[in-house]
Amino acid sequence: ETSLPNWLVRAAENQPDHLAIQCGSTHWSFAELLHQTEQLAYQLATPGIGKGTRVALLAANDLPFVVVVHALMRLGAILVPLNVRLTQAELAWQLEDVQATFLCSDARYGETASQLARELPRLTFLSLISDAQQNVGIADQPLVPAIALSGSLNLNDIQSIMYTSGTTGHPKGVLITYGMLCWGAIGSALTLEHHADDCWLACLPLFHVGGLTILMRSVINGISVNLHEKAAPEGINRAIIEDGVTIISVVAVILQRMLDDLDKHEHGARYPATLRCVLLGGGPAPRPLLERCAARGIPVVQTYGLTESCAQAATLLPGDALRKLGSAGRPLFPVQLRIFDEHQQPVALGQPGVIHLQGPTITPGYDHRPEVTERAFHNGWFSTGDLGYLDEEGYLYVLDRRSDLIISGGENVYPAEIESVLLSHSEVQEAGVCGSDDARWGQVPIAFVRLRTGSTTGSDELLTYATRFLARYKVPQAIYIVPEIPRNSAGKLLRRELARLIPR
Ligand code: AMP
Ligand code: MG
Repeated sequence: ETSLPNWLVRAAENQPDHLAIQCGSTHWSFAELLHQTEQLAYQLATPGIGKGTRVALLAANDLPFVVVVHALMRLGAILVPLNVRLTQAELAWQLEDVQATFLCSDARYGETASQLARELPRLTFLSLISDAQQNVGIADQPLVPAIALSGSLNLNDIQSIMYTSGTTGHPKGVLITYGMLCWGAIGSALTLEHHADDCWLACLPLFHVGGLTILMRSVINGISVNLHEKAAPEGINRAIIEDGVTIISVVAVILQRMLDDLDKHEHGARYPATLRCVLLGGGPAPRPLLERCAARGIPVVQTYGLTESCAQAATLLPGDALRKLGSAGRPLFPVQLRIFDEHQQPVALGQPGVIHLQGPTITPGYDHRPEVTERAFHNGWFSTGDLGYLDEEGYLYVLDRRSDLIISGGENVYPAEIESVLLSHSEVQEAGVCGSDDARWGQVPIAFVRLRTGSTTGSDELLTYATRFLARYKVPQAIYIVPEIPRNSAGKLLRRELARLIPR
């Protein structure tokens, strides 16, 4: 079993005064973040949090969240970050499923959390507070530095259990080990070639892997984080223009809104050259969006990954961004990637199949679900459930989720491709496509579109437009104009909820 120095402790030793995190007007160096972490870790230890304790966290993307993450690492406890958008009943289900014994929450979610703790007798509720100086602590909990905090970590230990965002099926807890986080951060650093002044903007939820891993990359690679509570385009654009943000992780809807906001600015509508990498992931990257960014010189690179692969599994190199537009790039340094057919046999280059992954960034499995884990792996390969193909240079193109694939008259229809065409229409703000049962074809695609504010475009015009770009069998049988497209808290399209929007 390999043991490493705790990453934050090491970062604070190596570069104590280096900016660790900026959130609003607060700036913490690595030394300050370490100090905050140790204060909180002592307070968490007093009621009995220690090695292996499962501690759920219901908190906003703010400093208390970050301090809890690092404090639990010092105690060897297991973080269970909760999705703040879940209903009380969904949260209760998850807390039971994971058998958490503590629930920490900040002031914003204190009401929900204390109710949950009353409902579930196993849970001890801990209320996070921060004073005027932003010091993070636990309410009514004296600071007793009675225990020795661990200065190291074991790569095989579980750092967190993350419930998948659940765009498909029932949520299940993915085991995230220190080893996965470590190799993920190394793989990412080798791809992005960090500079001393790199600053990574985090606006994705910290309770998802795409947000949490930014915190780990910061302490492992010694770079700063610019943390945002909300993915609000104005705030993000201001940070990029004024705070020296060099890297940002986004999903397509956020990037779209950032561009719309940038268009409102009087001057030039361009990002400064300091912004060197916009990592676009979490879902299909619509081609019109990539082209819009390319035309403005915005350095967007597509990345592919999932909770089970601890975020990035493949990423396009910034230098390939234009040459390989639409590709999610090549696997990261520690990742092996193969495309298999339904019999687990490798397919030829250019042929679509299911993306499989192997390597130290891949989860050992799902928490207390051995049968689900067993089904997800074949001869050591993790089956992602996503369809894709590799081009002749080994670059990955992600097509869609296998479960979202529409088979119409025997032809494969990828919803993402149709969405991309609809999104290229100037009046379309958001689009979602799903399959609908059809007596003749088995299934046909149907589309849902949210128009730009004030637009009067009709569905007939959109159908005519789609017909210009899509083969007959891919043209949606109907296009519904709707006020809102369902998305989860990470901004991911929820295709299975689309059919409910059909007007009756
Ligand atoms: P999650 O379940 O939240 O871990 O999200 C992972 C899923 O997001 C993957 O299984 C894919 O379906 C989707 N995804 C992530 N990156 C991409 C990408 N570059 N292109 C298409 N889909 C993606
Ligand atoms: Mg998933």
